[in-house]
Parts: sequence; structure tokens; C-alpha cells
Amino acid sequence: TYVIAQPCVDIKDKACVDECPVDCIYEGPRKMYINPEECVDCGACEPVCPVEAIYFEDDVPGEWSAFRVAETEFFAEL
Ligand code: SF4
Repeated sequence: TYVIAQPCVDIKDKACVDECPVDCIYEGPRKMYINPEECVDCGACEPVCPVEAIYFEDDVPGEWSAFRVAETEFFAEL
């Protein structure tokens, strides 16, 4: 799955939403979230993010590693 990290917080540009072919990017209180159960790993969202917040899960920079589980937790609470 792809993951949306720190740069999206309080930005929520939403350019990614229009690119996602399976509509698996959802709006949360402070950032956008990718549903890991729906993401098909196409990568279309990554280059359109103006703040470069989107990474493939294994490529999330170390300082933002907590965001790898933030997505899963967000959807688990819904
Ligand atoms: Fe959607 Fe593709 Fe991005 Fe996954 S990688 S969130 S399927 S655009």
C-alpha cells in the first residue's frame, strides 16, 4: 500500500483523490488517508502530491515511519 505522511497534515490538497483509480483516499480530520485494504499500489497518487507526502510503504522516510501504521489505525477505528 501507499502511505500519506507528515507533509499532508493541515494541507489536504486532495490532488491525489482525483488520480486514484479505486477511490481509496479518504479525508481525515487533519490529513488524507489511503485505505490499505483498497489501495492497488498503482502509484498514480505519488507524483501529483504538491507537498510530496505520499510514499510506497517500504519507502517512507524513517522520521515518518509512524505514518505507516497511522493509515491502518484510522480505518480500523471507522
Ligand atoms: Fe490510489 Fe493508486 Fe495511490 Fe493506491 S497507489 S492510493 S490505488 S492512486
